[in-house]
Amino acid sequence: AMASEGQKVVLITGCSSGIGLRIAVVLAKDEKKRYYVIATMRDLKKKDKLLEAAGDTYGKTLTLQPLDVCDDESVKQCVSSVKDRRVDVLINNAGIGLLGPVESISMEDMKKVFETNFFGAVRMIKEVMPDMKKRRAGHIIVMSSVMGLQGVVFNDVYTASKFAMEGFCESLAVQLLKFNVTVSMIEPGPVHTEFEVKMMEDVAKMEYPGADADTVRYFKDVYLPSATDIFQAMGQTAEDIARCTKKVME
Ligand code: NDP
Repeated sequence: AMASEGQKVVLITGCSSGIGLRIAVVLAKDEKKRYYVIATMRDLKKKDKLLEAAGDTYGKTLTLQPLDVCDDESVKQCVSSVKDRRVDVLINNAGIGLLGPVESISMEDMKKVFETNFFGAVRMIKEVMPDMKKRRAGHIIVMSSVMGLQGVVFNDVYTASKFAMEGFCESLAVQLLKFNVTVSMIEPGPVHTEFEVKMMEDVAKMEYPGADADTVRYFKDVYLPSATDIFQAMGQTAEDIARCTKKVME
């Protein structure tokens, strides 16, 4: 399958689950077939969930490619495999969380968060940017978070990685505007996905060396239940974020 004329080529990172998977499916199922989706994931063994949700769009408006945003070669190869290197819309969705008091987290784990959430997106943007500028068209979308705007206890490194991305995009947006390339950030509140499931599992076995009892109590008894309340009360799902992302592209 190939993009037909008039279709926007959309490359999405981290489509094995959660928000990325939903964005891929929502765009591939667009009634007017306006999008040709290149859904990517680092481990193609995880493709079944996406393919099941994509149904008969697979091979038509949706195609699958391996991509690890932390791997230079993988990023280069993935973008080069796109016909004429024409990525009309890049959606940087891949991301990982990290919870716990700073003292309990290794530098290695902290760097992994930046390597994925920050440098992963930067690596992708660097790869598609020259072609977008040449064509004087393009849209770069970044999945940030409310935690890209406000710090949250025991989320120090995760929020820092999203803040970093906010700064990067705000700076770059002005420069790319001159080339008719748009940069957008999406900042969801809590969404019920594998991300959140894993977070709750991590919390269950979390220890709090160096943290004071009030902070721990606030985190466990106020912050976490309220996050759960928010997505339950608002009913905010990955599907909603996907529809919002599609709106941003229109
Ligand atoms: P999921 O854990 O469900 O999905 C994250 C995706 O990123 C997975 O497909 C994962 O792949 C992928 N990924 C991780 N590392 C890499 C890598 N090196 N290369 C390529 N893909 C990678 O989480 P969500 O869908 O919830 O999260 C998506 C984005 O939304 C993230 O950036 C997150 O920070 C953001 N977000 C999430 C919120 C929430 O409450 N869930 C709220 C606000 C923002 P794999 O399966 O291989 O691990």
